[in-house]
Amino acid sequence: SRGRVVVVGGGFGGATAARFLARIGHDVTLVERDPAYVTCPFSNAVIGGFYSMPEITFDYAALEAEGVRLVTGAATEVGDGAVTLDSGEVLPFDRLLLSPGVEMRFDALPGYTEAAAQKMPHAWKAGPQTALLQAQLADMEDGGLVVIAPPANPYRCPPGPYERASLIAHYLSARKPASKILILDAKEAFSKQPLFEEAWSTLYPGMIDWIPPSMGGRVAEVDPTTMTVVTDFDRYEAAVANIIPPQQAATIARAAGVTDETGWCPVSGVTFESDLVAGIHVIGDACFAGVMPKSAFSANAQAKVAAVAIDALLRGEAPNSPKLLNTCYSLAAPDYAFTVAGVYGEADGKLFEVEGAGGLSPLGAPAAVRSAEAEYARSWYATITTEAFA
Ligand code: FAD
Repeated sequence: SRGRVVVVGGGFGGATAARFLARIGHDVTLVERDPAYVTCPFSNAVIGGFYSMPEITFDYAALEAEGVRLVTGAATEVGDGAVTLDSGEVLPFDRLLLSPGVEMRFDALPGYTEAAAQKMPHAWKAGPQTALLQAQLADMEDGGLVVIAPPANPYRCPPGPYERASLIAHYLSARKPASKILILDAKEAFSKQPLFEEAWSTLYPGMIDWIPPSMGGRVAEVDPTTMTVVTDFDRYEAAVANIIPPQQAATIARAAGVTDETGWCPVSGVTFESDLVAGIHVIGDACFAGVMPKSAFSANAQAKVAAVAIDALLRGEAPNSPKLLNTCYSLAAPDYAFTVAGVYGEADGKLFEVEGAGGLSPLGAPAAVRSAEAEYARSWYATITTEAFA
């Protein structure tokens, strides 16, 4: 039977889920705060100077044409069987699906407030923050210091800060080659580290330094007025500071009561229904999906699993145990990319990584392999944005 499903958040997770639920025949309302969506994937290429903001911006016209009812506004409250919006509108549902993404924690790093982000952009939600970081790099003098401060795990897009360092290096090496990039990290190791380090020494020798906490890299405090980044041992005066703070599930998830003490939303690996509140499903960055990383690929894969599970539940049938897939491409230059891939199964409601099914691009591969992977990255982006938005 036709169910009323409200989807909150029109990012990779929510847009995909809304579209698939509408195709199955349900009555779907998509609530999204913004009239257009700017993708984080390829936003580092905008910062790197070889993609434009319009190329990574999508609207919801195609979803509306397929029968999704779009409501532009913010969901503020979730009650028993209904969502309330900032306009006062109340949307009743049989099932609610939340894909609201992350919010930056402005209480986690001393000095890094919402106002500070206007001087030291995180650019961890694509849009004005992306444009700000790019403009700061364009205005910077040759020889300037760019500080990038990635958070501890878990956070949105584990390889993202290092892809960003690479593409900023790409931008600077052609235009301001005396500049330096310093990554002050909150963790001892990062995603695809050997592949990134190989790319940095091949493409940008001497330009990027990475300092883990054991070497004094942990950022303890920032001062946006003087553009100072303070670690346990040192102070750095940055020309550009890209501070990526710790994150948590977006506010509406807390309002709905589906977050736990970690700030994320524990869910079933079969249906993505909340462990805490029945009838509410959470996908994408906001959920804690065990070993699955927080990526657009994961959000899109989870959306399809959740859509099929919601359909089964609305028809009174038992959902099937899913298999999920994630691939994360990272560009180190426009024609140089590599990947990590994983396959995920479900047992006892928890997701696990299928051993030996995923893997990493090889180290020491010839340039042709790296440029082929850059081509695959672009086709992946075209495929996923078409499936979600076009
Ligand atoms: P989002 O895409 O954040 O969407 C959430 C939406 O919900 C937003 O549009 C927001 O406006 C809306 N919203 C939130 N609260 C409300 C509310 N209360 N009412 C109404 N609307 C609301 N992933 C990859 O797979 N590959 C990549 O190459 C890649 N590169 C990345 C590079 C960078 C620099 C970054 C930061 C991330 C990257 N990612 C990548 C990760 C990817 O962007 C996220 O994992 C993905 O966007 C998660 O989708 P989502 O649907 O969970 O959340």
